Amino acid sequence: GQGLMAGKRGLVLGVANNRSIAWGIAKACADQGAELAFTYQGEALKKRVEPLAAEIGALVCGHCDVTDMATIDACFAKIEKEWGKLDFVVHAIGFSDKDELTGRYVDTTHGNFLRTMDISVYSFTAIAQRAEKLMTDGGSLLTMTYYGAEKVMPNYNVMGIAKAALEASVKYLAVDLGPKNIRVNAISAGPIKTLAASGIGDFRYILKWNEYNAPLRRTVSIEEVGDSGLYFLSDMSRGVTGEVHHVDSGYHVVGMKAVDAPDI
Ligand code: NAD
Repeated sequence: GQGLMAGKRGLVLGVANNRSIAWGIAKACADQGAELAFTYQGEALKKRVEPLAAEIGALVCGHCDVTDMATIDACFAKIEKEWGKLDFVVHAIGFSDKDELTGRYVDTTHGNFLRTMDISVYSFTAIAQRAEKLMTDGGSLLTMTYYGAEKVMPNYNVMGIAKAALEASVKYLAVDLGPKNIRVNAISAGPIKTLAASGIGDFRYILKWNEYNAPLRRTVSIEEVGDSGLYFLSDMSRGVTGEVHHVDSGYHVVGMKAVDAPDI
């Protein structure tokens, strides 16, 4: 094989359709020679994920719902059986009840708080635990976060608290797994219109706001996030761990609305 990812095998969690960030990262890795495995969440997504897997020759590990540890175990058992080892994992999973991705954070319910943290935060640690055993030659774990972890974004609410916890997990996991040469990083992506994002209140407004105020004066694509993901999953970033890297057209450095931005 040829390419930056030749000889590397990776599990990608979070492909829902061809607009998913996970798909952008998977494509970038496959183009560089990586061998990939996908999971899908439930039968409804199976018919979307299978053709995408076929497009890049990826293995389909079956249903995986991260709230059910048995389905995560089944996925890793399949990887172990088929490959015996693992080089990288992409965790591009998040969830919160849409009814609470609007209005005030303070109104978050106990049930949705726990569920959001379980799916969006704990799952990364659950996956790291299992990946560690198969990453016998070292490895790279990558998760996806958002600026709403650092600063208050309208409607992001409990998801912002979850992303802050996810970013802290990246640092703790990096320290625990570093001695085994397993690196742990996150990409903080700018807003992209995906299935998950459509649950966030006034998302179109957030997209416009970023377009007018980011240094590059545009939003980012899943291809751009994919290429940055490729860096973290390849040996190009072999000296990097515990990092939260912004792929957001530079939005995170801006302290004030641009003078020439029209009123939106
Ligand atoms: P998406 O809807 O394409 O992907 C979200 C994925 O999470 C889906 O594949 C879904 O099946 C999966 N998922 C949800 N609950 C699950 C569960 N219980 N078990 C297993 N899988 C589950 O949307 P996306 O925007 O590509 O989201 C991927 C990641 O990127 C998320 O963590 C999201 O928070 C993050 N992110 C998105 C944006 C954005 O603007 N789209 C920006 C920054 C970060």
